[in-house]
Amino acid sequence: MHKIPRIALVIPCFNEQEVLTQTNLTLISLIKHMIASNEIASDSYLLYVDDGSRDNTWNLIEKFAIEEPVVRGLKLAANVGHQNALIAGLEAVKDACDAAISIDADLQDDIEAIPKMVAEFKKGYEIVYGVRSNRDSDTWFKRESAQGFYRVMNNLGVKSVYNHADFRLMSAEAIKDFLEYDERNIFIRGIIPLLGRTQTSVHYERKPRQAGESKYPLKKMINFAVDGITSFSVRPVRLVFFLGLGFMLVALGIFVYVLIRYFGGETIEGWTSLMLSIWFCSGVVLISLGIIGEYIGKIYTEVKHRPRYSIEKSI
Ligand code: UDP
Ligand code: MG
Repeated sequence: MHKIPRIALVIPCFNEQEVLTQTNLTLISLIKHMIASNEIASDSYLLYVDDGSRDNTWNLIEKFAIEEPVVRGLKLAANVGHQNALIAGLEAVKDACDAAISIDADLQDDIEAIPKMVAEFKKGYEIVYGVRSNRDSDTWFKRESAQGFYRVMNNLGVKSVYNHADFRLMSAEAIKDFLEYDERNIFIRGIIPLLGRTQTSVHYERKPRQAGESKYPLKKMINFAVDGITSFSVRPVRLVFFLGLGFMLVALGIFVYVLIRYFGGETIEGWTSLMLSIWFCSGVVLISLGIIGEYIGKIYTEVKHRPRYSIEKSI
C-alpha cells in the first residue's frame, strides 16, 4: 500500500466516568503501538464525543486531551443519543482522517479487531464491519431480543449486517456519503449497507462491559428498534392492507350467514354476529390508525428538520 492511513477513533460517551480512564489507557497504548509499527500515520488520534453526560465524563476527556496530544474531545450541549453522538463525531473527523473507526466507550468490542480493520482498509475496503462471533457475554434477554430484532428487520426487507453493532471502519469518503443522509430518525446500521462501495467484515468476541452500566435500558432498546423498522420499511402499512382484506373476507362470510338466518326466519338472532363484527372492526380500525399514526409521526419529525446536535465546545 502506498500511503500510511491517518485513522480517527470515534468514541461516543454518555455518563462513562467509571470506565473512561481504563478505556483511554487501552486505546492510547493501542494507537501508539500502531503508530510505532507504521500501521497508521503518526497524526492518527482518538476523538471522544461527550453526549451530554451529567457526570465527570467531560472533565476526564479534558484531562486526557491535556495529557496526551493524540486525544481530542467534543462536548455536545445535550444528550442526543448514541446514534446522533456518533454522527457528530464522524462529521467532526471527516476532513481530518483517511478512515474513522467508531467504537463504544465500554470496550465491549475487542480492540484487537482494530488493526484487522485497518489491514482490510489498506487492502482497499472502504467499509469494514466489526461482527461479533457470539453473544455469550450478553444477558439472555439482550441476546434473544437483539436476535429477534435482526430477524424481524430482515423479514421486513431492511438490509442490515447480522450481529454487527456500531463498531466499524469507514473511509472518509464513505463518511461523507453517509452524512448526505439527512434524515432525523436515523438508524445508522440500516444506512451503511446502502452506501455500497467495497464492504467486508472482521470477526471478534464481544466481552462484557468493563465498568459502569448499560446506557441502553429496555425503553431505549425498544425506541431504537421501532426507529429502525419504521424509518426503513413500509411493510407494516402493507400488512394493515392485507389485514383489511382478510376482514373483508370474514365480513363476506358473516353476510352469507346472516342471509341464511334471514331466509330461515330467525332474524332476531342477528345481534350476536352484529356485536362480533363491531368489535372486530373497531379493533382493525384502531390497529390501522396506530400504524398509520406512527408514519405520520415520522413525517412530522422529518418535516421539522431539527438540528441533530449542537456543539458546546471542542478541544
Ligand atoms: N451512548 C451515548 N449516548 C446515549 C447512550 C449511550 O453516547 O444516550 C454511548 C455509550 O456511552 C457507549 C455506547 O453509546 O459508548 C453504547 O452504549 P452501551 O454500551 O451502554 O450499550 P450496550 O452495549 O449495552 O448496548
Ligand atoms: Mg456496551
